Amino acid sequence: MPAAILDGKSLARQIRSELAAEVADFIENNVTVPTLAAVLVGTDPASEVYVRNKRRDCDEVGILSQLHHLPKETTQDELLTLIGKLNKDDSVHGILVQLPVPEQIDTEAVLDAINPMKDVDAFHSDNVGRLVQGRPRYLPCTPHGVLELLKRNDIPTTGQNVVIIGRSDIVGKPLAIMLGLRGKDATVTLCHSRTADLPGVARQADILIVAIGKPNFVTGDMVKPGATVIDVGVNRTDEGLVGDVEFASASEVAGHITPVPGGVGPLTRVMLLVNTLAAARRLEL
Ligand code: NAP
Repeated sequence: MPAAILDGKSLARQIRSELAAEVADFIENNVTVPTLAAVLVGTDPASEVYVRNKRRDCDEVGILSQLHHLPKETTQDELLTLIGKLNKDDSVHGILVQLPVPEQIDTEAVLDAINPMKDVDAFHSDNVGRLVQGRPRYLPCTPHGVLELLKRNDIPTTGQNVVIIGRSDIVGKPLAIMLGLRGKDATVTLCHSRTADLPGVARQADILIVAIGKPNFVTGDMVKPGATVIDVGVNRTDEGLVGDVEFASASEVAGHITPVPGGVGPLTRVMLLVNTLAAARRLEL
């Protein structure tokens, strides 16, 4: 029997409508409106689309958004000066620097310059450290989206073998930490390009999460029958957007599977809104 689809698009719509009510409630009880400042350096078309979508999501739930669009030759000092101003601006609750930044700019220095209380992407080393210690201030958006997708589809993680393929700082690594924390209680295996017998390891997974950026890399023969398959990958190909999982073969074997597009992506976007509202609550206490 083909796998049940984990529909991220409709779940994100539902969470946005819940958030809109929470934002309205916040505005009624505070003198301020939750506000996200997006910083975009340069003219990378994909980054421009991401920022535009994030601002549209903010509009939909009643969060204010600002766009600070800087030219591609912006220096690190100029960017740090802007971040310093946004840190001090009490009307701004969340700051997001769209990555990647141009090569003359040190990404880590920029992320660490953001006030950790306003770090709604949760990339600041302070917030990463807190996450590792199991006392997160904000959860990183994509891993949080994956966990929410599992939770709201009643897919338990306790005692489950979770195999994550890809160990990036924004997806695989934090997801491995989050799933291993008390409360999630999964047994996690984190794979990468040097993992031996990757297909064999993947076949052990009750929940298989793939975030590598290689179109159709995971095929049905790498999936344990009945497993949940979460495809984080987004690859632009001649055939359009495809994931890291070959949907046709994997969906014949899996119990549940995310589509691409319409799986994890919409939830990543919604979690930025969740964090922005959380930041406003925190800063307006
Ligand atoms: P990344 O920084 O590009 O890192 C890729 C990871 O995959 C690395 O850990 C790499 O291993 C591993 N890898 C590459 N080839 C492999 C192979 N053949 N076998 C096993 N592991 C392999 O990854 P990312 O930024 O997390 O992005 C991954 C994908 O997710 C991309 O398609 C990206 O567009 C997508 N993404 C989607 C969302 C969303 O909201 N849906 C959000 C973020 C990213 P090594 O460490 O050994 O090099």
